[in-house]
Amino acid sequence: MTQEAQIRVVRSLNHPVFHTIRDISEELKRPAFVIGGFVRDLYLDRPSKDIDIVVLGSGIELAEKVAKKLGGLRLTVFKNFGTAMLRYRDLEVEFVGARKESYQRNSRKPIVEDGTLEDDQNRRDFTINALALSLGKDNYGELVDPFDGITDMEKGIIRTPLDPGITFSDDPLRMMRAIRFATQLGFRIEEKTFEGIKAQKDRIEIVSGERIADELNKIVMADKPSIGFKLLELTGLLHIIFPELQAMKGVEKVDGRAHKDNFYHTLEVLDRIVPNTDNVWLRWSAILHDIAKPRTKRYDKKLGWTFHNHNFIGQKMIPKIFGRMKLPLNEKMKYVQKMVGLHMRPIVLSEDIVSDSAVRRLLFEAGDDIDDLMTLCEADITSKNEAKVKRYMRNFKVVRKKLKEIEEKDHIRNFQPPVTGEMIMKTFNIQPCKAIGDLKAIIKEAILEGEIGNNYEEAFELMIKKGEEMGLKRAE
Ligand code: ATP
Repeated sequence: MTQEAQIRVVRSLNHPVFHTIRDISEELKRPAFVIGGFVRDLYLDRPSKDIDIVVLGSGIELAEKVAKKLGGLRLTVFKNFGTAMLRYRDLEVEFVGARKESYQRNSRKPIVEDGTLEDDQNRRDFTINALALSLGKDNYGELVDPFDGITDMEKGIIRTPLDPGITFSDDPLRMMRAIRFATQLGFRIEEKTFEGIKAQKDRIEIVSGERIADELNKIVMADKPSIGFKLLELTGLLHIIFPELQAMKGVEKVDGRAHKDNFYHTLEVLDRIVPNTDNVWLRWSAILHDIAKPRTKRYDKKLGWTFHNHNFIGQKMIPKIFGRMKLPLNEKMKYVQKMVGLHMRPIVLSEDIVSDSAVRRLLFEAGDDIDDLMTLCEADITSKNEAKVKRYMRNFKVVRKKLKEIEEKDHIRNFQPPVTGEMIMKTFNIQPCKAIGDLKAIIKEAILEGEIGNNYEEAFELMIKKGEEMGLKRAE
């Protein structure tokens, strides 16, 4: 263990929360330990606010006394689970009695009984998650590391403490967790552990969609999410949990002409968008932007490979994918659909001489999400040809500038019709009818086409003209 890590441990355990736990644990004669993620993150120098305390005996009893001593803190007790949780300043501390677990075939919920510290460490998923620091008076801060998790941490390895086959079969969520940790920490999954995932991949079926989605989102939010998706693919899990993404892998060749591998392209886009956004849904848009390519792929002797309408078809595929993966079916999904549907548009604008009306239309359709759309499109340029990348990026700069100029002039982003249905009805003295919608559409079109400005006067004038052409008469 490095000296820096040792210093961090000493400094961290100097916190009043740990001192209080030490004193109460001594008083009750119930040894207590900090365990799991907090200890791992302390060694890895990743600040963490979630502390797990494992107690030999009742975690709740110790927690009650600690809460009292720390000034009558509120304690949330989960009697069924034998756990108790308190918040102290910005820390969240959870207490639980050491336990032994055994599993049944059809559930990831174990049968639990009281156990020793060793039992408790045995039930942990990975060696790096099984580390414990003693909070005993005589051995305060002593590391209990039965599986040599410290070495694994130094080497950057994810490994199960016990037989990987049993570990993953008992609780298949651990397969997702292994891949998630490998992604977040940039660690390698040790060979036997990796083989264990491959062998047990079908067991993922007993894990709820919500838990899988939680892990996937953590992978998506990592600094290099492609690591996770590649591991999901290599282990065979991707095929089960996200077949549409799996279908993007591979290259087909006809007449000696190949298309690019859309799976790796997508992962490159995803990694490229990471430095520019922490919005998980924009990252999902990157994952899904080409999702319909396998479905729309055609080979044409003249044109080569085409993926006609993959943006629109992709947009339509999203509700089913989100539904199955238990991702939200609300405005977040609509946002992803919008991004996927529009992702070809800025490219088209950048290739042609940009007409004002095309820019206005894009502003109208993208609304406030226009900047996100540009971020996605910039990430989508993954050509190996540097000159081409430079040219596209330059063109996108021009598109961004144009978007800004036209928005400043025409205010299309949050388009509100300058003439309302109410006004139309009053002006022509008519009841709600189709003509109102038609007139509003004509005015909107004229504004987007640049025939009139986005203002009341010009819109009103056009409304009168077109209304009269439709046979409507102005009210006196
Ligand atoms: P993060 O906070 O990034 O999710 P974590 O490891 O702290 O990581 P928690 O879910 O809070 O994640 O779990 C705390 C500890 O509980 C883990 O470090 C591990 O020791 C243990 N643990 C959690 N889930 C499992 C599991 N499915 N199987 C075995 N042990 C687990």
